[in-house]
Amino acid sequence: MITLGCSKNVYDSEVIMGQLIANGKEVVHEESGDIVVINTCGFIENAKQESIDTILRFVEAKEAGKVEKVFVTGCLSERYKPELQKEIPNVDQYFGTRELPMLLKALGADYKHELVGERLLTTPRHYAYLKIAEGCDRPCSFCAIPLMRGNHRSTPIEELLKEAKKLAKNGTKELILIAQDLTYYGLDLYKKRALADLLKELVKVDGIEWIRLHYAFPTGFPQDVLEVIKSEPKICNYIDIPLQHISTSVLTSMRRGTTKEKTNALLASFREKVPGMAIRTTLICGYPGETEEDFQEMKNWVAEQRFDRLGCFTYSHEENTHAFHLEDNVPQEVKERRVEEIMEIQSQVSWELNQQKIGKVFKVLIDRKEGDFFVGRTEFDSPDVDNEVLIPAENIYLPMGEFVNVKINDASEFDLFGEVVD
Ligand code: SF4
Repeated sequence: MITLGCSKNVYDSEVIMGQLIANGKEVVHEESGDIVVINTCGFIENAKQESIDTILRFVEAKEAGKVEKVFVTGCLSERYKPELQKEIPNVDQYFGTRELPMLLKALGADYKHELVGERLLTTPRHYAYLKIAEGCDRPCSFCAIPLMRGNHRSTPIEELLKEAKKLAKNGTKELILIAQDLTYYGLDLYKKRALADLLKELVKVDGIEWIRLHYAFPTGFPQDVLEVIKSEPKICNYIDIPLQHISTSVLTSMRRGTTKEKTNALLASFREKVPGMAIRTTLICGYPGETEEDFQEMKNWVAEQRFDRLGCFTYSHEENTHAFHLEDNVPQEVKERRVEEIMEIQSQVSWELNQQKIGKVFKVLIDRKEGDFFVGRTEFDSPDVDNEVLIPAENIYLPMGEFVNVKINDASEFDLFGEVVD
């Protein structure tokens, strides 16, 4: 199994592997095998190119007799199946994002519904992604995800609880909640926003110590979620909420359903209701029509807001999205320069915020040993995308998946350094 793209694809690969194992198949992840299944990403240009390169690499291996069969699934396959079948015909079969039973059939396995929640984790056992919904009903102009993942479908609370209990029994301590739009949870199933209700149930699962929220959406943000984050110690004081931009004219063209004023009011409510909560966001530079003024407005805002965590990407002109009708008029080099400028500001902000942590003690979850350090994370850091805590490994042994208290004695832009204290 080869996985490309986002945490939702990681989750889907884990489900596919869980099904295959239950059918008595031998499965490995990101290693060579006789039959290769590539779970692709089709989100933006770079990701699409990486998926195509990966398909070509394994088709070459097949032509060289190194692998028997190559199957392709995931977003790129969902979005471009006819073109892929024509351009790269030597793939045994292409599958969409909602064709798991057919993929399993092609692999000589039967889809087992009773296995809901059973996955082969690809993350270290002590943390796991929990996909609470799939698809998206939002009209964001630049985004191809609804084309690849369909409309929003929430997973019933009972099924998610069952899954969380199985994970906890298997040693998972941190649950990372994911979806395309986490805050839309329940609107389809329960006709109301039910993320707070789900959280109140998940905190009751024994063994789970941290619950983390990713992919919140600003418009219609359910404020009751903030109360639950505040009152429930198991829920990390952390929220990932991609905001994409701050200029009202750009937000309007992006069809985000919000404005600069509303966005700032939402951020203020986060800080007022959950003081100290780490806010992660994602921004896009170079959207069609983005003027130098719009960009300056966003730069000033990033400096003012001082986000704890921030990622920034160049706009990608995607077919069949609403924005594809607009002229992609910001030159690539300008897009890239704007991303660099934003990340320069963010590096400074992150360094300053990290300096304030020196001398303080934090609960840290140990993820791995790397070189001369044990590496872990505070509740303010999600795996793979945020800061890490490095603890010199001399004369000490820290088991993976254990929580320890760490006193911070130094900090860089994106890492903290410290020693274990009682
Ligand atoms: S919320 Fe918007 S950006 Fe996010 S997946 Fe849905 S359409 Fe795309």
